Amino acid sequence: MIDLKGKSAIVTGGARGIGKATLMKLGSLGAKLVVADMNPEATNACAEELKKLGYPALAYVGDISKDEQALGLIEACNKEYGSVDILVNNAGITRDTLLMRMKKEQWDSVIAVNLTGTYLCTQAAIKYMMKQRSGSVINLSSIAGENGNIGQTNYSASKAGVIGFTKACALELASRNIRVNAIAPGFIATEMTDAIPEKIKKSISNSIPLKRPGQPEDIANAVAFLASDASSFITGHILSVNGGGFLPGGGE
Ligand code: NAD
Repeated sequence: MIDLKGKSAIVTGGARGIGKATLMKLGSLGAKLVVADMNPEATNACAEELKKLGYPALAYVGDISKDEQALGLIEACNKEYGSVDILVNNAGITRDTLLMRMKKEQWDSVIAVNLTGTYLCTQAAIKYMMKQRSGSVINLSSIAGENGNIGQTNYSASKAGVIGFTKACALELASRNIRVNAIAPGFIATEMTDAIPEKIKKSISNSIPLKRPGQPEDIANAVAFLASDASSFITGHILSVNGGGFLPGGGE
């Protein structure tokens, strides 16, 4: 049984989609939550919803790609709950276009949020985790970081970077009993993928062996496992949650 009673859990990009589903799941397992997102209304609304369910929840509005705001997030968690036990680096953005048309701003912004934001939050969190001699960091990568994807050179590079970062962190922090893992989702039905035309969404779903898009809860369940002691001998692992997308003949 997965039990997160007494553990504090920060989820960046937590106000909607995969992040919100993750907070719901971790809350249901007993964790004390921090909703971190740059959208003030959605962040506060999410924290209120969690509190109504009886889960302790702190709202933190900030941009995790900015040094002081990432640092402020981790400090706020420690101040509120007295520890930093679980960090889910989930905040992410896309700025899709073919490489030949990509503006430097589109490249920079995606790297800043998806990769630099993950670095900033992790670096701030391990300061506490090292003292505690325990902690679990879960980074959101993507099937695009594993395989590459047309129109997503910036996003694929950021998510491949997250994989390398995860493995190097796992090696550096294992002796302090801090585990660092990543999840690489395939196609998941959220607002991020909403903008994809219906016809293309259907053809992506058809190419997945399980013949459906993933749901945010599919990722939340994997996060809960990696956050908990049920995975205490797993670190530096990249867990692909993609409906069988890597099987021969599968994939997007
Ligand atoms: P989403 O767009 O629905 O939600 C992302 C949330 O992150 C939003 O609430 C947004 O306000 C927040 N955010 C963005 N930039 C931020 C910043 N700088 N600081 C703080 N918050 C910020 O996305 P989602 O589909 O739920 O994806 C969550 C994660 O999973 C992302 O890292 C994404 O790259 C990854 N992922 C998603 C899919 C998919 O198919 N949806 C597939 C693979 C990986």
